[in-house]
Amino acid sequence: MPDYGRLLRAGEGEAMFLLGNEAVARGLLEAGVGFAATYPGTPSSEVGEVLNEIAEEAGMYFEFSVNEKVALEGAAAASFSGVRSFAFMKHVGLNVASDAFISLGYTGVRAGLVVMSADDPSMYSSQNEQDNRHYAELAWAPLVEPSNPQEAKDFLVWAFDLSERRGTPVLFRTTTRVSHMRGIVRAGPRRPSSSRGSFARDPWRFSLLPAVARRLKGELMRRYGDLRMEAESSPLNRVLGSGSEVGAITSGAAYNSLMDALQLLGLEMDVLKLGMSNPFPEGLVAGFLEGHRTVFVVEELDPFLEVRTRALAQMRGLGVRIVGKMDGHFPLGYEYTPDVVAEAVASALGVRPPSPGLVELGEELPPRPPVMCPGCPHRATYYAVALALRQLKMRSVVFASDIGCYGMGFYKPFEMGDVTLCMGSSIGTANGFSQVTDQPVIAFIGDSTFFHAGLPALVNAVHNNHRMLVVVMDNGTTAMTGFEPPPNAQYGAGGRRLSPISIEEVARAIGAKYVRVVDPYDLRGTLSAIKEALGSDGVSVIVARRECALLRDAELRRRGERIPVYEVDQDKCAGCLNCVQDFSCPSFRVVEGGLVEIDPSLCDGCGVCAQRLVCPPAAIGESREGRERWGPGRRVGARARST
Ligand code: SF4
Ligand code: SF4
Repeated sequence: MPDYGRLLRAGEGEAMFLLGNEAVARGLLEAGVGFAATYPGTPSSEVGEVLNEIAEEAGMYFEFSVNEKVALEGAAAASFSGVRSFAFMKHVGLNVASDAFISLGYTGVRAGLVVMSADDPSMYSSQNEQDNRHYAELAWAPLVEPSNPQEAKDFLVWAFDLSERRGTPVLFRTTTRVSHMRGIVRAGPRRPSSSRGSFARDPWRFSLLPAVARRLKGELMRRYGDLRMEAESSPLNRVLGSGSEVGAITSGAAYNSLMDALQLLGLEMDVLKLGMSNPFPEGLVAGFLEGHRTVFVVEELDPFLEVRTRALAQMRGLGVRIVGKMDGHFPLGYEYTPDVVAEAVASALGVRPPSPGLVELGEELPPRPPVMCPGCPHRATYYAVALALRQLKMRSVVFASDIGCYGMGFYKPFEMGDVTLCMGSSIGTANGFSQVTDQPVIAFIGDSTFFHAGLPALVNAVHNNHRMLVVVMDNGTTAMTGFEPPPNAQYGAGGRRLSPISIEEVARAIGAKYVRVVDPYDLRGTLSAIKEALGSDGVSVIVARRECALLRDAELRRRGERIPVYEVDQDKCAGCLNCVQDFSCPSFRVVEGGLVEIDPSLCDGCGVCAQRLVCPPAAIGESREGRERWGPGRRVGARARST
């Protein structure tokens, strides 16, 4: 576990080697933020990991909220009550929070309020790569874009000051490359945090009835005029270089790739680096365009700056050549590496492209699709569902899946992910499939996702008499992003004791006809419940509850207990390969002579494979050797406190 306490202890001027997201956390301390909330999502998750450790000591309230909209609404209320507040999320999280975010432009804020959106070009861990800079324009909000960890901290502090100075929420946009890069960060002075405030009533400002909103739109437009002036003179917008004929306008992570690309090409050019890119600083950009013959616009994802730059040049009758995505030189999608930028710049200037920056690999590496961990309870649940469907001879089943580790049910051998759109969409799309098809419908959803956005869809399913089986894969944590506690956990951020919400009681209260809790490690019991549920009418809910295997291991190691390991008795093994092909735990391997073995360094000792439903001749049993030699385990995430 990294020593996040150093973020608290670092004195002014001290240098630290920080991840972009750790620098954001330090920025919150320097800005005196008293309230922070998130729904975890990569690439923003590490901010939560840090705050989980240090918020309490810093005097800051921090929570993992049920979803991003609730996180932002809580932050808005804190700001209205005079507490500096911060809501952070991955880019698709802002879709969920956008209702509140756009309305906040109208109400404005009292204490500083910054919303961080961590975008994910190239979709390393996301279902799309939307460009959230558009949200700033949609909400008439200022947009701040850092390029490295030092800027992530410094710009964040500046964003809080701007928010308070102009009474506006600020959108702070990072991308994976900025959030996850490491760099030297010099600490600034810390402002004391206060998590307590007081709300002074002002319904004609904070209650957006149509009459109020109509009046506030005028104020919003006036405030936006002030923000335009802020952007013109913002210290975040800088011209670098001195007097080349060719220039470039850039922001965010694309700035780093541009500078590397120029080095690769052996070129120099003036660069207008925009750290505050909305409102678009027209005067500054026009001046830059006037001083150059050719100007590149280098930005990842959408031509956000380029559209504005071209419109500005047209309105002002400037004859400068503008090069970007819209004339086909730069790609419209995916992350920009230095090679991508260098190639585009070289082609536009007619200079020799650089030799490839990376060594070409001679051979294709074998594909390694993502797999569920050894001992993962989700594997056992999927296996039981597959058995049930086989035994009931059910075909043409529609599998609606969702966002989380269990999404790996998409891959062989289970192939139970026909449709996955976004958080909570499994039950939402199951509503539609149930209505327009005669096919059986099974929705898979995790516990955290169930609370995040699955609940309204379940209400809809019951209310509209739809027919489906909902399998809630309850491993007690938000495993994919770093083990953050969902609302069914007993302990929240910082180890605070909370009130866990029972998924089965919620499902029963909503009116689901058949609700059962099963232990996926008990294959026979799970199989029988799934078969019963598939034979029921209406909406059935099975809660497949078993702690995430990684959390269990961490706890066993912490207690100094051995992790059991299983082995195959070669005399009994019939060589059917069911354990390898149909159950597919990655601990199994087929060795010379077609023998099946269990790799003791991978086996997690769940014992599911030892059941006759996986291994008919009962050839698998617990080995006398455990993994006690592995020593004490580290604490994994917030949830480990509750195990
Ligand atoms: S399921 Fe059992 S019998 Fe079949 S290959 Fe695996 S260990 Fe051998
Ligand atoms: S006990 Fe069996 S199923 Fe469980 S982790 Fe070990 S090999 Fe895999």
